Amino acid sequence: MNDEQLELFPSFRKAEITVSPDFSEKNMVSIRYNARLKRQIRCSANGIFGRPELILPEYMKSDDFAKSRDLAAEWATYALRRKTQKNKARIKDILSRFWQSIDQVLAERGETSLYVVEKLPPIISKGNHHDLEQIFAAVNETYFNGKLQCRITWSNRTGGQSFHSIRKDPFTGESFHLISISRGYDFKNCPFFAIAGVVYHECLHIAIPPKQGSKRRIVHGKIFRQHEKRYIYYDEWQKWHKEVLPENIRIMRKKR
Ligand SMILES: [Zn+2]
Repeated sequence: MNDEQLELFPSFRKAEITVSPDFSEKNMVSIRYNARLKRQIRCSANGIFGRPELILPEYMKSDDFAKSRDLAAEWATYALRRKTQKNKARIKDILSRFWQSIDQVLAERGETSLYVVEKLPPIISKGNHHDLEQIFAAVNETYFNGKLQCRITWSNRTGGQSFHSIRKDPFTGESFHLISISRGYDFKNCPFFAIAGVVYHECLHIAIPPKQGSKRRIVHGKIFRQHEKRYIYYDEWQKWHKEVLPENIRIMRKKR
């Protein structure tokens, strides 16, 4: 449709007017953006006339998130009120609908979920001393009846972090779980039970996905911690994790 044709349909024009991303008129809430936020929103009482101010992840600035922003603004007005039982329930409900709407917009854009990180690191499961594939198979068999599906790799990060993420296969376009284990575990001094411990922990993140609480995502909730302790070498692994791993990471960083 060209400009002339548009004149015949004024309503089309109207629909094209962009909504301000800096203010939710419906709720009188001003909005700021933070590029570091991903799956978290915040609010304060710093808006105009003591109204709430909402802080959203930068990517929510675009027009397709306008309705989601109104939901978030509604959340902000309740989040700053007294936390009565009723209010807490309402906050939780709005927040859950808000994240659902975000996922919907992303799905419409062809982006599966926020947890999907586009760039795929090389997947290397054979380390200098330990083969993660082997350890994963044992953990999977023992604790998940061999039903867990994921890929596993030694991490390139030097921070000593092990983590779970959802990636997209560049060839098939399918999403898969990826477990990344800190190289600090790929040492001769690392016993099998320690690697199996961290692998089990990351596997649990697949079996017990994070839940949305009233303020933030609950990653290591009560149920997660209960399950984590079912690992028979839990105490031994924790001891190794606290006492030996930091030293291995120090050595690792020196080598770089
Ligand atoms: Zn964890």
